[in-house]
Amino acid sequence: MNAWWRRWRTARTLERRPIPEPLWQLTLARYPFLAARSAPKLAQLREMATLFLAQKEFTGVRGLEVSDEMAVAIAAQACLPALELGLEWFDGFVGIVVHEDVVVARREVEDDDGIVHEYDEELSGEAMSGGPVMLAWRDVDDAGESAAAGYNVVVHEFAHVIDMRRGITAGIDTVDPESERGLWLHALADEYEVFAARVDADEETFLDPYAAEALEEFFAVSAEAFFVAPDDFEREEPQTYRLLREFFKQDPARQT
Ligand SMILES: [Zn+2]
Repeated sequence: MNAWWRRWRTARTLERRPIPEPLWQLTLARYPFLAARSAPKLAQLREMATLFLAQKEFTGVRGLEVSDEMAVAIAAQACLPALELGLEWFDGFVGIVVHEDVVVARREVEDDDGIVHEYDEELSGEAMSGGPVMLAWRDVDDAGESAAAGYNVVVHEFAHVIDMRRGITAGIDTVDPESERGLWLHALADEYEVFAARVDADEETFLDPYAAEALEEFFAVSAEAFFVAPDDFEREEPQTYRLLREFFKQDPARQT
């Protein structure tokens, strides 16, 4: 898109459809990890969330009405990881599908003997490459309280969107290990290996053990803790904290 046009459209959106002040203040009150940011960063987040709302389509499932309050809550948390990267990282999709509660998905897994086992997985969110982002409102709603445990479903799914957009963690086998990106990614993979070994050894971890599932989950789960419980996360995973600070160009433990 032409840059001039884009800037013009951006200015018009901010002028015509800003997030109303009471609604923004309510969002900050409900999600203290957002409110902890400096005034200039909050203004930047509000602008990005306004543009996000203008560009994305929210759909409630089974009669769920997505209110302004819900949409702003989702937009503000979704924009948090993209704040210094730019909204264009979210260009690859439009739809956000909101369920009232977690979604039960039937999964199949084949064991070493070729026997297929079926099981149910409870999903509080899901991000697909180029597809819509699914969120369970119950977990989004709880995000103010669950932040202390480093949990945030919106940040998790949008970290996946950012990761998938550039094939970041998926590039582990193809990236030049001596390139800047390769060095960064291999350093992250090293931290992942250490973490997965701790989980295997049944060690207590601050980070959700789900992060041991795969490198992309380690990235997404770490991003949650990085943004909503940065002090605890940095204490336990100082190297991963440093890598995410470099990647997201933010330093949430210092509220800059
Ligand atoms: Zn995930």
